[in-house]
Amino acid sequence: MSKRDYYDVLGVPRSASESELKKAYRSLAMKYHPDKNSGDKEAEKKFKELNEAYEILRDVNKRAAYDRMGHQAFDQGGRERSHASGDFNFTGGFSNIFEDIFGDFMGGGSPQAHRGSDLQYNMNISLEEAFKGSKKPIRINVNAPCDECKGSGSEKGTKPVTCLSCHGQGKVRANQGFFTVERTCPTCHGAGRKIEKPCRSCSGLGRVRKEKSLNVSIPAGVEDGTRIRLAGEGEAGIQGAAPGDLYVFVSVAPHSFFQREGADIHCRVPISMVTAALGGAIEVPTINGGRAKVKIPEGTQTNRQFRLKDKGMTILRRSNRGDMYIHAFVETPVNLSKKNKDLLKEFEKSTKNAQTNPQSEGFFAKVKEFWDNLQD
Ligand SMILES: [Zn+2]
Ligand SMILES: [Zn+2]
Repeated sequence: MSKRDYYDVLGVPRSASESELKKAYRSLAMKYHPDKNSGDKEAEKKFKELNEAYEILRDVNKRAAYDRMGHQAFDQGGRERSHASGDFNFTGGFSNIFEDIFGDFMGGGSPQAHRGSDLQYNMNISLEEAFKGSKKPIRINVNAPCDECKGSGSEKGTKPVTCLSCHGQGKVRANQGFFTVERTCPTCHGAGRKIEKPCRSCSGLGRVRKEKSLNVSIPAGVEDGTRIRLAGEGEAGIQGAAPGDLYVFVSVAPHSFFQREGADIHCRVPISMVTAALGGAIEVPTINGGRAKVKIPEGTQTNRQFRLKDKGMTILRRSNRGDMYIHAFVETPVNLSKKNKDLLKEFEKSTKNAQTNPQSEGFFAKVKEFWDNLQD
């Protein structure tokens, strides 16, 4: 059975914001919750599907992976899985998210509720940069702590007062559909305090929209699809709460003549018919910007590989390097003059019956055998 699209499951567009996702999840989770639909197999299935979809989409990393690769991103053997392994744990996730999401009106109300959001930044780098590693400056628009009130949200020289609705508890008891729960205090949003004189620069939020410059260190040997976490560099929290993290997703652009395969680099290099026949030496480029000599033996055929040890990619957090493989292909000459052609014809005549084409001979011997066998 093919899986439904996670966005369809939640009934939201692909552009849905975090809060739209949360809202959609909440209302559907209420509708299909097993406590409300006991014995209804269809509702149970829907509830599971819903939890699975939300578990992925609420996580900025997993959502990005899903947007790029669909369900495949989380299949066994999917590429993303190997990158993200370690923090991807599907089993047992359901109860957690249910608590997370309903927690804030089930009595959460911790400062966590005001924590700044995580952010994602997509960065494209070249293969050379992935080889060397680099420091890349980026500029992002974020909510940063307000300088005026130092992030507190209170006008300079004033202090927040205890919230009277919840007596500083940050939560109140309330009925919510089928739950009787403690919920976050709607007056102070769980903070337990109220700002009487809000800071004028940030309207009391403690944070303002700013352009921020950062230097991102790209480690040498980084792989396509790697994410780099910059702790605390996401959105500032509200009224001084903890900031979110910034995740930099690194894409390594394909190179015009090097192909990366793990730590190794492959390069297809044309060699002339004459060099292939007589042998010689060619010069090839290397990923560090240098060059290397490759000895071509007499009688080299197309697809012959030459290994250049330690000329491949750097490997993350290791001192050794991968290898480079030169794949020779023999180029057929074009634009021949009459004289060239005459020489080749002369050459062809002079090599008759001299076993100069072992591959052709081997091939046509097999073809003859194939046809002979069909005769019986
Ligand atoms: Zn302020
Ligand atoms: Zn309150």
